[in-house]
Amino acid sequence: MSAVQGAHSSSIGIFLRVKPVTRPSLGLSVNDTDHQIHFNLPRALSLGPVNNQRENYQFSFNGVLTADAKQEEVFERVARNVVLGTLEGFNGTIFAYGQTGSGKTFTVTGGPERYADRGIIPRSISVVFDEIAKRAEFNFLVHVSYLEIYNEVGYDLLDPDRDVRSLEDLPRVHVMEDDDGAAHMRNLSSHRAASEEDALNLLFLGDTNRTISETPLNQASSRSHCIFTVTIESRRPGEPMVRRSKLNLVDLAGSERVSRTGIDGGILKEARYINLSLHYLEQVIIALQERSTGGARGHVPYRNSTMTMVLRDSLGGNCRTVMIANITAQHEMLDESISTCRFAQRVA
Ligand code: ADP
Ligand code: MG
Repeated sequence: MSAVQGAHSSSIGIFLRVKPVTRPSLGLSVNDTDHQIHFNLPRALSLGPVNNQRENYQFSFNGVLTADAKQEEVFERVARNVVLGTLEGFNGTIFAYGQTGSGKTFTVTGGPERYADRGIIPRSISVVFDEIAKRAEFNFLVHVSYLEIYNEVGYDLLDPDRDVRSLEDLPRVHVMEDDDGAAHMRNLSSHRAASEEDALNLLFLGDTNRTISETPLNQASSRSHCIFTVTIESRRPGEPMVRRSKLNLVDLAGSERVSRTGIDGGILKEARYINLSLHYLEQVIIALQERSTGGARGHVPYRNSTMTMVLRDSLGGNCRTVMIANITAQHEMLDESISTCRFAQRVA
């Protein structure tokens, strides 16, 4: 039996990215020509009770980035248009979704070693400042903030005191909404970036703070959502009107299901928060899709989670949104990879 699920037209772009592995799983074929991935698993390779019934799956995307896709290609195909939109006044949001180890952080931030491995954030910063330099008729003001959401609580990754305290001692970021439905954050610092270098330094500072609260037992960064936000304001000299837009680059918490047996309560609590927040994100995206395609006046349930509150003015409407589903082609991970493709299909 084969489950064919196609991506229909929508305002959110869904891309699949497959992480290179030394021994890709049998029965997996990834094709960038038809934008599809096929899981054709012989019965001997089936994955336990859940998938025993169905061994063939096929998923479609707006684009597929195969294991040999370089970071530059990923940026060009997935992100450039979103970043350019923010200079024209559209908000933009890019998510990386997937299990821990599937390449989310590599995709969003990049690898530490080679310049060519820079991810979407540093490349976006570079494009923002290049484009600003081309638009001499405007005055631009760029600010950066970097938020971490752990167990539904927001923390400031650019808090100057961050490195000397444990997460629990840090001030909590509160999200409030104004009468127009825009989100405002209390206790989240916003930093002026006058140049590409300023913005890169802020990214580096936040990423350093992100790993400090990590222990070998609690790899905190994969259990929290991180949102790097670039706010761009522009104004023609002498004119009062300010145009303001935001670019949110989101490294989501690992989507893997945690088995309930033999793990401590803290990890179970984390897993519950992660599952719930990913579920609420899905609900918001689906509600927005229904609104944009069917004209339904459906209620968009933003208030259920911290992340959807933070992003409420940056999803749907005047916004370009992209989701990258990250998977690894390794056989042991097939179950999670199928689950990630299913999520991507549900929000498509
Ligand atoms: P996640 O953030 O989803 O947990 P990471 O981005 O940390 O996963 O990736 C896990 C490991 O795989 C890292 O060592 C990362 O550098 C490496 N990696 C991920 N994607 C790629 C890729 N496309 N090419 C090369 N190495 C990658
Ligand atoms: Mg990561």
